[in-house]
Amino acid sequence: MHDHAHGRRAIDSMIRGQDLGGLLRLAETFHGHLCPFVSLGVKAGQYAMASLNRSNTGMEEIIAIVECNSCFTDGIQVVTGCTFGNNALIFKDLGKTAVTVARREDGMAVRLLVQPDYREQMFARYPNAEPLFQKIVVERQGTPEDWHRFEHMWEAIARRELKTPLEEQFVIESLTITLPEYARIYESRTCSRCGEQAMAPRTIGPATEPVCLVCAGKDFFMLTGQGITAVSPD
Ligand SMILES: [Zn+2]
Ligand SMILES: [Zn+2]
Repeated sequence: MHDHAHGRRAIDSMIRGQDLGGLLRLAETFHGHLCPFVSLGVKAGQYAMASLNRSNTGMEEIIAIVECNSCFTDGIQVVTGCTFGNNALIFKDLGKTAVTVARREDGMAVRLLVQPDYREQMFARYPNAEPLFQKIVVERQGTPEDWHRFEHMWEAIARRELKTPLEEQFVIESLTITLPEYARIYESRTCSRCGEQAMAPRTIGPATEPVCLVCAGKDFFMLTGQGITAVSPD
């Protein structure tokens, strides 16, 4: 039997070789831009994956538990290979910039939490960035020229932050956790009203006459920029 060539070989070797610049470039293609927090996600992911020393082929051999849905999370997804779609990304809606990456075989895990004063420290390193950040990102003001200037500055900071020592950016903890069960495969049922298929636990009524949550007018959960909330179909 041969060693199956999986799609993350190149990423694995970047992780082993501590090629943070290469990993950040991959994260940029996924995230759409470069920013300090995607850079932090890349660094946390690289550190955790190197510590756990286990390849991830997207079959839940590694799981990442993120506590925020932000730029940081995209860096984590790219580097750990634990994604929204392969069920290895678990989202705790706590609004903390933190991740726990764990190995299924023995529960060995590492949690990285961004230092509470990271933002102040980072802005202290790049004093020109803060007023522009305030204007562009927080207040959503600023001319196209401001935007352009901001993008350049933010990219440069993302790259330079790769070199800041990890301990200055993160509180790092090794731990052992109990991993969640493997994702279950559910059968699909066809809604007796709209004819669309939905996985069985997202339908109500008997198997002979299932109704999807939308047709049933039931609340469901939705993940948006506001976090996870229950919403009613309209
Ligand atoms: Zn970003
Ligand atoms: Zn329906």
